[in-house]
Amino acid sequence: MKVSRRDFLKLSGVTVTAAALSSFGFRSAEASDYKSIRISYAKEVTTICPFCAVGCGIICHVRDGKMINAEGDPDHPINEGSLCSKGSSLFNMMNVYAEKGESRPNTQRMTKVLYRAPYASDWEVKSWDWALSEIAKRIKQTRDKSFVGRNGSGVTVNRTPALAWLGSAMCNNEENYLFHKFARALGIVNIDHCARL
Ligand code: SF4
Repeated sequence: MKVSRRDFLKLSGVTVTAAALSSFGFRSAEASDYKSIRISYAKEVTTICPFCAVGCGIICHVRDGKMINAEGDPDHPINEGSLCSKGSSLFNMMNVYAEKGESRPNTQRMTKVLYRAPYASDWEVKSWDWALSEIAKRIKQTRDKSFVGRNGSGVTVNRTPALAWLGSAMCNNEENYLFHKFARALGIVNIDHCARL
């Protein structure tokens, strides 16, 4: 279809008017239908993005006990509504999109402790109690075996070179502060963090 300059200006005028009316609340019957609004009747729950220590605020929309949407919190002083690509994907921690765009629970989400013994090829499901005592046991064994009270010059160092501690960007500043104190108390000197915090 050939559009003259005059037609183009007329068309632009109609579009701008429609957009203006829409912003004043004049919407089509379909758009004002509550069913077309994805978060209608959902409860808003505010939270903090778990992916890094920037600590952006997020609003989770919850309906019938299920999270149906997550987006940046415009009232939050850190991010004022914006999210980076990681934060924007928060919803997908629990849900994935099916072919037609509707969401369904993410069945790949890991919800149990999995353990693969040395040289084994299969993963075993274990309890949290088992995992925590196993971690504590191995830390103690390694620390006892490798602890150095004084260095070659007789200076007190109280350290173990056999353990390393890696912080997580999924923990907040306060948690990472406590992890750091704990690692130092064990005598660990190799401490790092995936975001170098
Ligand atoms: S991962 Fe992105 S959205 Fe989440 S806190 Fe960090 S900067 Fe903010």
